[in-house]
Amino acid sequence: MDVAEFRRRGKEMVDYVADYMETIEQRQVYPDVEPGYLRHLIPTEAPLEPETYEDVIKDVERVIMPGAASPACTELETVMLDWLGKMLQLPDDFLAGTHGHGGGVIQSTASEATLMSLLAARCKAVRLVQASDPQSSEADIMSKLVAYTSDQAHSSVERAGLIGGVRMKKVPTDDSYAIKGATLKKMLEEDKAAGLIPFYLCATLGTTPSCAFDHITELGPMCNAEKIWMHIDAAYAGSAFICPEFRPLLNGIEFADSFNLNPHKWLLVNFDCSTMWVKKRSDIIGAFKMDPLYLTHENQESGLVTDYRHWQIPLGRRFRSLKMWFVFRMYGLKGLQAHIRKQVGLAKEFESLVRADKRFEICAEVIMGLVCFRLKGSNELNEALLKKINHGRRIHLVPCQLSGRFVLRFAVCARTTESHHIQEAWRHITQLTFELLQEPAH
Ligand code: PLP
Repeated sequence: MDVAEFRRRGKEMVDYVADYMETIEQRQVYPDVEPGYLRHLIPTEAPLEPETYEDVIKDVERVIMPGAASPACTELETVMLDWLGKMLQLPDDFLAGTHGHGGGVIQSTASEATLMSLLAARCKAVRLVQASDPQSSEADIMSKLVAYTSDQAHSSVERAGLIGGVRMKKVPTDDSYAIKGATLKKMLEEDKAAGLIPFYLCATLGTTPSCAFDHITELGPMCNAEKIWMHIDAAYAGSAFICPEFRPLLNGIEFADSFNLNPHKWLLVNFDCSTMWVKKRSDIIGAFKMDPLYLTHENQESGLVTDYRHWQIPLGRRFRSLKMWFVFRMYGLKGLQAHIRKQVGLAKEFESLVRADKRFEICAEVIMGLVCFRLKGSNELNEALLKKINHGRRIHLVPCQLSGRFVLRFAVCARTTESHHIQEAWRHITQLTFELLQEPAH
């Protein structure tokens, strides 16, 4: 959709809403659809090829309006999470389908998904210990619980530990900034020998500093054997797994208990939309279920309806699956794959430019849209370059530390980025580098 069409469609949408408000008295207050009504009205998978806006908006009247904000909001979300789960080739265990034990939910952010998984895991661990040792108090068990994550994990993981009131240990990473099975194994053995109870691992696929991938095929079986909940945080990189060439990076997902990615980061869905799947929805519902009288409804014990209020912290929720539905249909799977591939191609283009300049070095393998690079030289020199770049206000880079070295991160993420932007950015960086190296201090 170009800008001209966007303007036109936006105005049409205002008319649609205004018409709705004008005719609201003629509409039914309470929908008379049966649980599961929506799944039968739309395909079981996302389209391969793009559809038109007209196609989608026609379906709003046919599919959404009979179920109004609820149950349509819940039902479309469940089906969209199945659509995306299928695009990612998630194991069937993670799909809701019509009889599944798993399923997906939209959280606001990856931070929230991590926290939810940690709290569910904590609850499960406490119950497990109490099942074999009924005398042990919750406080005593909590004081022994240990969660693990990589020393490269996003700060939100450490924060989940803080909020969840459990200790979080950082697992050292290998030369490629990923956790290896052997390193975790050693930590688990030491901690168990010290009387602690390992209960949770947050592995990352696509770390924030360098887009590294933890070895989940090694970590997963160990977690399963030790009854440790494995959550996978793929906030950024997860979107790329819809492309068959990137899907092998998700191998090992079959061992995970929960998985999260942010379509709002890299799948063209506007903020906020963070998709989370669990293998056993009873784990998450079991941890957070509350049923006051004012929230009871006649279908709640039937097992036919999903009550997302048990899957998240807030009670109220927005109709965020609508934007997934629009995006998936208007791009089609092929369009979304093309978007990912184009951005990875642009990152590779930037990488080639860096590699061709002997003053610079690439600091981590470029797998997706992130290029970690630096000037060969001191951290101070690179800090000065970053300062110059960001003060220039034409491009914006965020740094990281890798093996004690100050590194610049070039991330391709805007929908409209083209090759000429990459070339321009590199010209700008080399011009500023030239100026920096002329300065007396350097
Ligand atoms: N996890 C990873 C790997 C990330 O890169 C980020 C953000 O950049 C996050 C989690 C936090 O994401 P959110 O803002 O959705 O909480």
